[in-house]
Amino acid sequence: MILYTNCNVYERPDIKAILCNKGKIIQLLPSGNINSGKRIDLKGGWVYPGFIDSHMHLTGLGWSLESVDLVGTTSKLDALKKIKEEIKNTPKGTWVLGRGWDQNDWSKSEYPKATDLDLISMDHPMIFRRIDGHAAWTNTLAMKLANISENTVDVNGGIIIRDDIGYPTGIFIDNALDLIESQIPEKTEQDIYRQIIKAQTMLNKFGITSIHDAGTSKKEIKILKKMIKNEELSLRVYTMLNNNPKDYDSFLESGPEIENPFIKVQSIKIYLDGALGSRGAALLEPYSDSPSENGLLIIKPSEHKSLVKKFSKSGFQVNTHGIGDRAIRIILDNYEEVANTKIRNRIEHSQIVHPDDVPRFKELNVIPAMQSTHCTSDMPWVEERIGLERMHEAYPWKSFIKLNIPVPGGSDAPIESPNPIEGIYASVTRKDKNGLPEKGWYSEQKMTLKEAIKSYTEWGAYASYEEKIKGKIKENFYADFTVLDQELKSTNLEMILDARVLFTILNGKIVYQSNEQ
Ligand SMILES: [Zn+2]
Repeated sequence: MILYTNCNVYERPDIKAILCNKGKIIQLLPSGNINSGKRIDLKGGWVYPGFIDSHMHLTGLGWSLESVDLVGTTSKLDALKKIKEEIKNTPKGTWVLGRGWDQNDWSKSEYPKATDLDLISMDHPMIFRRIDGHAAWTNTLAMKLANISENTVDVNGGIIIRDDIGYPTGIFIDNALDLIESQIPEKTEQDIYRQIIKAQTMLNKFGITSIHDAGTSKKEIKILKKMIKNEELSLRVYTMLNNNPKDYDSFLESGPEIENPFIKVQSIKIYLDGALGSRGAALLEPYSDSPSENGLLIIKPSEHKSLVKKFSKSGFQVNTHGIGDRAIRIILDNYEEVANTKIRNRIEHSQIVHPDDVPRFKELNVIPAMQSTHCTSDMPWVEERIGLERMHEAYPWKSFIKLNIPVPGGSDAPIESPNPIEGIYASVTRKDKNGLPEKGWYSEQKMTLKEAIKSYTEWGAYASYEEKIKGKIKENFYADFTVLDQELKSTNLEMILDARVLFTILNGKIVYQSNEQ
């Protein structure tokens, strides 16, 4: 037994101590004045149910922590400087990897070129994913290793950007990325293990106790299980299997794994379209800033349908990446036609949703898994992409909530910061970290603070079928807590960003403790 004392509990002003045993909450108490075994003083902190990030990339986050970080670069030159610094310590011939650039943030917002990177090194193959992960910038050596030339034909669901005379410029989009990335040596188990450790350390520091991993390989599941056995995993992981028979075949055969409280294998992640930033999101009407384009589908609708049918039949939840209104309509149509509606299928991102399709989520029992910081990061250029007439479709989380549809929140880390406090702030303000725009961007779609906290707790638990054991501070629920140094207050939303994590508690044990106290 452990007694957590000297705390305030979210929505329970009557409670000042929590008694836990074997990973669960046993009793909520008005004071710590009881005789118990071990006592831990929570220093007057505010206890929230352990935060759940319902869409992120665990090893992707770990990988990003050890590769060139181009997030926030203000110009191409700025990005090149960072890469040059990295190359100093990298032996010739070794791949230099990174991510996070966004030409929309640069002083000149056009795609960079291979020749820009060639100026830094001709001896290191390089590839840098764009902030949304859906485009990559490479140098000439990388293209040479992949045998890319003016004769390379485009691949289905992908684009090779070319110059006026047909030569690839060094930018590859969606499925075309594989042409280059297939040349990168495969990660070893040791690499994956190290990246998971790095990622979970960061996540625990941000108060996260559970994640939904949006694309897990069989190898990663094996490593995660080994970590659980060795008591090294400090997160609960809800996996979404990669849409790759090599990763899902054996699970499809044996059925969902739901018994282990630290890892569940119960869903598949399928990509249907690309992202808005690289005009890969599939739209019903053309892009307002590029009338010849309406986005791309990574797989055919019929192929998606047969995957939905196959996984639904075996009891797996289907989580499809859908950003544009055309992709979202195709997914809903396929779910309607062939899915078991008792299964809580999901649409990951659900960013641009036609108003006719919003109520269909409710009818079909489909969960929109949304990431509010995508909204606040994208807001400077979304109007340009989709035009004013469609803006009522953009990031419409309140429209879903009004219909009683749960909206699990997430970060899509490493695309955005995994800090849930930033996610909660973006959900309730629709403002950037500088407090702009002043009234919030399309503010009718703001969540209330209560809803935003639900999106990181209860609704995340619902999205993984765990709402009866997780997401609330209640007897018999998991003893997963995020302890903040202050209360999150709806009367002072600007203060939310000042909140700091004092303790992160998973299964009754402290997995992170701030040393600032
Ligand atoms: Zn993602």
